[in-house]
Amino acid sequence: MFFIGIFGMGTKEVDIRTINNMICKSCGRMTSYKLVKTYNYFQLFFIPIFRWGEKYYLVSKCCGSLFELSEEEGQNLEKGKDSVLSNLNITIVEDKSQCGKLICHSCGKEVDESFEFCPYCGIKLK
Ligand SMILES: [Zn+2]
Ligand SMILES: [Zn+2]
Repeated sequence: MFFIGIFGMGTKEVDIRTINNMICKSCGRMTSYKLVKTYNYFQLFFIPIFRWGEKYYLVSKCCGSLFELSEEEGQNLEKGKDSVLSNLNITIVEDKSQCGKLICHSCGKEVDESFEFCPYCGIKLK
């Protein structure tokens, strides 16, 4: 058909950057996150004409869990404004940490069972 390859729509995923020294919200380990952006695009003659529906995600290196964050936070991180990290409002989309978990008896957060101290409140776990 004539239109194939001339008009096109799709979703693209771009790796933006790596953010180091983070505590994984899924398994509680010290880790780094990869900031990823996805967007839909429409192309004409192989040239992307416009894009929409930008979404930002964080992928944790430790367990590969996927988190979604708001567009505003994602844009700030993309520009290198790491100040938003202290107040990040991310939600788990895919929890891939299959490893053993403990519930901290002090603060109630989920902690990797290999930890001796709770990374959230610092109490001794064992
Ligand atoms: Zn993790
Ligand atoms: Zn705790």
